[in-house]
Amino acid sequence: MNTTATASKPIILIVDDTPTNIQVLAEALRADYRVKVAGGGKVALDIIAKQGPPDLILLDVMMPDMDGYEICRRLKQNPATQNVPVIFVTARSDTLDEELGLRLGAVDYIAKPFHLPIVMARVRNHIALKIKTDLLEAHALLDGLTNIPNRRRFDQQLDIEWKRGLRSGEPLSLLMLDIDHFKAYNDNHGHGAGDDCLRKIAAALAATAVRPGDLVARYGGEEFVVLLPDTDEDGALQIAERLRSHVETLQIPHGHSATAACVTLSVGLASAVPLSNLSNNSPASLLDKADKMLYRSKQAGRNGVSCWSRDSGSAS
Ligand code: GH3
Ligand code: MG
Ligand code: MG
Repeated sequence: MNTTATASKPIILIVDDTPTNIQVLAEALRADYRVKVAGGGKVALDIIAKQGPPDLILLDVMMPDMDGYEICRRLKQNPATQNVPVIFVTARSDTLDEELGLRLGAVDYIAKPFHLPIVMARVRNHIALKIKTDLLEAHALLDGLTNIPNRRRFDQQLDIEWKRGLRSGEPLSLLMLDIDHFKAYNDNHGHGAGDDCLRKIAAALAATAVRPGDLVARYGGEEFVVLLPDTDEDGALQIAERLRSHVETLQIPHGHSATAACVTLSVGLASAVPLSNLSNNSPASLLDKADKMLYRSKQAGRNGVSCWSRDSGSAS
């Protein structure tokens, strides 16, 4: 979402082909919101595509280039914009028009000529709801213990990056990381210390994978995943080794590990250039290969990295 994340004002896009309507609304809203304006449907879609979705749209229906219903239809079909609240502000006050607008997914319908305080009140209510919804959504994608993205967020991102890779032809790499002898850590240091350890490791991993598209997530229990877009196996191998050694240098004492005197990680790595319609080239198979390589690292003595093209021969 555009607002709470940056702690800036919510963004409202006003779309109307009558300049005076835009002027009146923009002037009233400017005190509390960042206002963007578009004099037609195509310009509005262009602004959204280039600058990202606003937090609310005030949408005129009758416009020469593309009517408001069509714009609303398109916004609701696009996953990136389908949750942006749309309020129709229109001279078409027929109940059938209102019904159509609401059925297209608009949250509200205001008849022209409008009474400005009512527009302001409705905007305020819908923006408040939008902020709450965005917060809930953000929470649903975060892991409660470590505050890094959770498995649900990772699954979504893997799907997005796979599709992007299909278009771009760029490789995608995936790391699976699992803390070594963590059951013994819990048993001996206590569950609270175990939780602290998970938090420290999550923070260290998130701080180490630094490219904007990289995603570090808690996959479950003491297992983490890292998604590395536009990264081939050589590049991913360097990052995997950096992550592994970073955790080792944290020197979190582990008195009951058969591997080292501190907490360590084992890592499995797989890379692919996404292709369509191949059973051994899919998000699921990438995960499966990384998981097999993690198992390989465990077998090879832990605190190490295994990668599919180099080590899979000895894994199966
Ligand atoms: P290996 O080196 O083979 O990975 O051994 P391991 O002991 O790490 O693996 P195992 O799967 O046997 O144990 C995982 C442990 O992780 C057991 C479980 O209690 C602990 N664990 C999982 N989630 C949490 C959590 O949220 N908090 C804490 N404190 N411990 C957790
Ligand atoms: Mg483990
Ligand atoms: Mg495990």
